[in-house]
Amino acid sequence: MAVAHYIRLHAADNVAIVANEGGLAAGAVFPCGLVLRERVPMGHKLALVDIPAGAEIRRYGTVIGTALGDIPRGGWVAEKRVRMPEAPGLAGLVRGTQAAVAPLEGFTFEGFRNADGSAGTRNVLAVSTSVQCVAGTLEFALERVRRELLPRYPHVDGVVALTHTYGCGVAIDAPDAIVPIRTLQNLARNPNFGGQAMVVGLGCEKLLPERLLGPGAAAGDVMRLQDEAFDGFGPMVEAIYGMCRDRLEILDRRRREVCPASDLVVGLQCGGSDAFSGVTANPALGFAADLLVRAGGTVMFSEVTEVRDGIDLLVARAADDGVAADLIREMAWYDAYLARGGADRSANTTPGNKAGGLVNIVEKAMGSIVKSGSTPIVEVLAPGARPTKRGLIFAATPASDFICGTLQLASGMGLQVFTTGRGTPYGLAAAPVLKVATNSALARRWHDLIDFDAGGIATGETSIEEAGWALFRLILDTASGRVVPWSDKWGISNALALFNPAPVT
Ligand code: CA
Repeated sequence: MAVAHYIRLHAADNVAIVANEGGLAAGAVFPCGLVLRERVPMGHKLALVDIPAGAEIRRYGTVIGTALGDIPRGGWVAEKRVRMPEAPGLAGLVRGTQAAVAPLEGFTFEGFRNADGSAGTRNVLAVSTSVQCVAGTLEFALERVRRELLPRYPHVDGVVALTHTYGCGVAIDAPDAIVPIRTLQNLARNPNFGGQAMVVGLGCEKLLPERLLGPGAAAGDVMRLQDEAFDGFGPMVEAIYGMCRDRLEILDRRRREVCPASDLVVGLQCGGSDAFSGVTANPALGFAADLLVRAGGTVMFSEVTEVRDGIDLLVARAADDGVAADLIREMAWYDAYLARGGADRSANTTPGNKAGGLVNIVEKAMGSIVKSGSTPIVEVLAPGARPTKRGLIFAATPASDFICGTLQLASGMGLQVFTTGRGTPYGLAAAPVLKVATNSALARRWHDLIDFDAGGIATGETSIEEAGWALFRLILDTASGRVVPWSDKWGISNALALFNPAPVT
């Protein structure tokens, strides 16, 4: 039988997680002599000392809760035995001094250069929509485009419909409507779409199709199904088909060229987290994020409810007072948004997170924040906004995988790295997604869905640094099209999902 193995992350911690696959039975003896009092599943916590009722439980050197009853040394620190602490306040947070980021020269990727200076990782035709009513007709036309046209344009990677449930039956002038509208406007400007915007609208929707186009758009960039020129369904499909053909002609002339790594915009996300997320995959990703930032690139991390409990850590890393104020503003906005819905941050953790050993959102947040690495936060984006700086950026989004992915795409993400412990076949049609497993058991079981196994960090087979460098190189190879993530090989992707905090009418 394998040697019993636990992982303690910080000298101040009084708990550690069981690293053995399948967990450990009662009576298991660790090399230090500690004896397990009861069965503890893999990734779940054991008490390293007697923890009396009411005492603090520490992981990552942070209090993740207090004991609801006495937990003996070697006992299972199960979710039902832990009381969650209050969220930290937003007043009196202090910004620290930031060390200069050491530049990393000479790293490039092969991307598609755009007229606005950005660089895409893929060459995709995207069709925007102003309202859900058109989605079925558009998909009908695009099926024909993919079948008949796409094979004639081998330098185009795909055709994507930017469909959603917004546009009609919405309070279009409500203050929070800015979020979905901005998201749709910026989605069409994603660097992977080559600046070939077009919009399919209906004609009576509240969200006018023209609002989705930037300056420089032409009348020919918009079509409306209700246009009286269309005599039935067939001509509508023909019109969409023709607009797509014109744009595919242009996109097909593009070729990849060497771009500095500083042109990359990488989004980070996690989903289906477990207790290893903060031990293996997220620290490795944090190391890779530091390398990207040092190479001059842009890295966005998100998911407000997953960082809310570590806001003091984030404010300490703000590059200036403006960034610190912006961080607090986004947290306060989200606190109010959740309160309006009668929820709080504790609604974030899922049954799967808990089965994976995470007792609450505090523990999840500590493991989530490490994927942002260690560089200063240079900018904070409201949901769906576009960055104006390069470096590490906090892009405020919900933690929902699809909403976060959609908002990061709107913020200009060219590639996403997604860490998962429980596993999800998540993917995006508009940008490659690299899925990183937190444990090798998942990576083996999902050998044709997981792109990178960070599990070796827990067993000592690899280091955070080694895995971080490997991940950094994998990101550059994927951005260059040399590596195709599993979700793209299978052609599976999730729907775009807008964040609409405004009322629906
Ligand atoms: Ca997520």
